[in-house]
Amino acid sequence: MIPELDDCILDHIAIAVDDIEASVKRYEQLGLKFDSKREVVASQKVKTAFCPIDSHAHIELLEPTSEESNIYKFISKKGAGIHHLCFRVSDIIEKQKELESKGFKFISVKPFEGANACLVNFIHPKSMHGVLVELSQRKEG
Ligand code: ZN
Repeated sequence: MIPELDDCILDHIAIAVDDIEASVKRYEQLGLKFDSKREVVASQKVKTAFCPIDSHAHIELLEPTSEESNIYKFISKKGAGIHHLCFRVSDIIEKQKELESKGFKFISVKPFEGANACLVNFIHPKSMHGVLVELSQRKEG
C-alpha cells in the first residue's frame, strides 16, 4: 500500500511517571477521564494508563515496572515528563522504508508489538530535533 499524504495523525502523547495512580488523579483533576483498565507492556517493562482526548488521540501514562525499563532510565536521567509523541500510520513497514530513504534513523531495525496490540517503532530523537517519535499501525480486527 502506498502511504497517502495525510497518513500521519496524532495517536498519543506518552508521559513518563513515577506513580501512575497519582498522575491519573492529577490529570482527572483537570477534567480528563482515564480508562479504568491498566495494561502492562512486558516488552517495554511499563504499566500504562489511557485517557482519550478526541476520536483519534489519547494521553498515555507510562510507569516503569523494572529498573531495566527505558522509562525508568529516562526518569532517572531527566525526571518525569513528556517521553514521546506517537503518530498513527496505515502501513508502518512502508513508512519506515520511506523515512529511512530520507535519512531518518529508527531505534529498532523492524517494527515490534507495542501496547494495544499495535505494531510500532521509534524514530531516533536525533532525527527529530530531540523529540522521540513513535510510529504505530493498528492491526486489523
Ligand atoms: Zn507510545
